[in-house]
Amino acid sequence: MELNVDLLLAGCDTECRHCYVNGGPGRLMPLEDALLCLQKLDEIAALLPFPASFTLDNEPIKHPEIAAILRSAAGLKHIEHYHHGMTTGLALLRRADREAVVKSYLDCGCGSFGVTLHGDAAHHDEIVRRKGAFRASVEAAAFLKACGAELNVSLLLNRFFREDAAALDRVIRELKPDFIYFAVPNYTPHARMMGFEDYRARLSDLVALSPLLRDWGQDAEALLARAEQSTPGAAAERLERGLDLQALFRQEQQELYCAVRQDRRLYLGNTGAETALLGDLGTLDPALAAQRLSREPGNRDYTAFYDPDALPEAGTLAGALRRLPADRLYSDEASVLYRGLAELGVPTRILAL
Ligand code: SF4
Repeated sequence: MELNVDLLLAGCDTECRHCYVNGGPGRLMPLEDALLCLQKLDEIAALLPFPASFTLDNEPIKHPEIAAILRSAAGLKHIEHYHHGMTTGLALLRRADREAVVKSYLDCGCGSFGVTLHGDAAHHDEIVRRKGAFRASVEAAAFLKACGAELNVSLLLNRFFREDAAALDRVIRELKPDFIYFAVPNYTPHARMMGFEDYRARLSDLVALSPLLRDWGQDAEALLARAEQSTPGAAAERLERGLDLQALFRQEQQELYCAVRQDRRLYLGNTGAETALLGDLGTLDPALAAQRLSREPGNRDYTAFYDPDALPEAGTLAGALRRLPADRLYSDEASVLYRGLAELGVPTRILAL
């Protein structure tokens, strides 16, 4: 087992339609609370029988005291700071001290940053629901690179990619990132995600992009092979052939996700998929918290969202998937199955916060 705790510091500047951590405008966690939470997480981690890490989320650069928080995070002994490095660029470009902020990251061993692109400027801004977001991502990416950071670009497939391929290619050639990720957005039962459904790409879109995928450093054959298995049509077929839903949703998981919101409350479950409140991290007894966490099963997916006893028959789920566009693309089998369960209105374990 491994624990990862998502520590929410300041919300996010965008409200992406595909966001599975419910990012968006949020409160600021006061500096003293952030430092206290880090210290408590370190104390809890020291008592756990498995490794622990934490992530500063959603857009930590929005926090005015991010440099002090990073220094504190780097000094912890028992828990590792997992730096995802993804940024919208909006907060960074707003800051007069942006060079110092990037230097703080680099000094703390966080040398890698990434931006996500969703198409050309108009389509990108439409997907993240923030005007000017595309320009900010590109400008911030160039700035981060000039500061000496490793730059990653994440291309998150949607139905605009086919028409925007040339524009995306131009930006990539300009930015010359160190690494390009290419991903199909997943589907999890978060309220907002249904709003991305009409933006999903089809298998034919990915096929049309194949020549460029190779230019973007991707293994086009492997991507296509996986994509063919991640559509409602393919999942319905597997269900009809006897896919064992119960076994899938009861399989043991090795990752335990927790979230700490800006009010210091510690929850079981990843951000946006919280399933139980454990208490105020600032006042929780570390030994009791460690005991509780040690007993919890992993909650990366499947049972984190659904009670296996509430699952429909495989045939019923296959029927729901047959009502969706057969070649719509999801990240993996789990995403497709969640989408089918949402279609059937199967209740989730996620708390309404
Ligand atoms: S996907 Fe990331 S950038 Fe977009 S709203 Fe969510 S947290 Fe913010």
